[in-house]
Amino acid sequence: MTLADLPPLRESLATHGLLARKSFGQHFLLDLNITRKIARLAEVGESDRVIEVGPGPGGLTRALLETGAPVTAVEKDERFRPLLEELGAAASGALDVVFADALKVDERELARGAPAHLVSNLPYNVGTALLIKWLTGPWTPASLTLMFQKEVAERITAKAGDDAYGRLAVIAQATCEARLVMDVPARAFTPPPKVDSAVVRLTPRADRPEPRRLDALQKLTAAAFGQRRKMLRASLKGLAGEPVITAAGLDPQARAETVDIEGFLRLADAWLAARAQGG
Ligand code: SAM
Repeated sequence: MTLADLPPLRESLATHGLLARKSFGQHFLLDLNITRKIARLAEVGESDRVIEVGPGPGGLTRALLETGAPVTAVEKDERFRPLLEELGAAASGALDVVFADALKVDERELARGAPAHLVSNLPYNVGTALLIKWLTGPWTPASLTLMFQKEVAERITAKAGDDAYGRLAVIAQATCEARLVMDVPARAFTPPPKVDSAVVRLTPRADRPEPRRLDALQKLTAAAFGQRRKMLRASLKGLAGEPVITAAGLDPQARAETVDIEGFLRLADAWLAARAQGG
């Protein structure tokens, strides 16, 4: 059997008696036109390694395998083992499935030292936690093409001054170029979630902050956005004084929501410099 001979996904699910589980954030994409579009947006070529989180019944996995790229998939729900084994056989060994919690795996091991593209229709209950792990952890993906609830996608791609702008936008855009590339209505999923979704494409920036700078950025954004609508000089009190804020070229009376990504990066640098001087 080849990928083209596989039965429709709906039929495979019925044959294996599989129903979506809410606790695992399961909302399946069974329309191959949609999953193929996501695979195209991921710009995966046949020599690229792909890591997919949460293959479930394997709709997106099929589309990724059709590109010719080898796929390593991480799935928490063991019920999908027989179905994914069938898919692996049809893909002539190009699919490797690891049954584990994606929050706990070491992607460097999964990628076997080679660059890898992350592609996932993420389980919404752990989507943001996984994104933060990939943006701030020791492993740098070649790119990330990820489905989120639309509201989360907007928080990732928001610009300073937008309602959705906050900590997630700063961490995502300090480390990556982030674009919302596809809207997906709730009705495209089985079962449909309560809200619409969107695909975000993130490409790591060449000037991605090194761990110490990223750690400073995380601390400062937690404080600055922890007290929304407060002036920086008040929200950063105890962490960074006015001289640090002005050294970063920022107005101590400004609010975090108006400070752009580069402003936060300058603040991290000024804060680290002051600390190095014992300030
Ligand atoms: N990729 C499939 C699709 O598009 O139809 C399923 C997507 S569904 C939104 C999320 C998938 O992630 C489910 O298969 C679920 O079992 C899996 N999942 C949930 N939590 C996980 C975790 N912590 N680690 C790995 N997989 C997880």
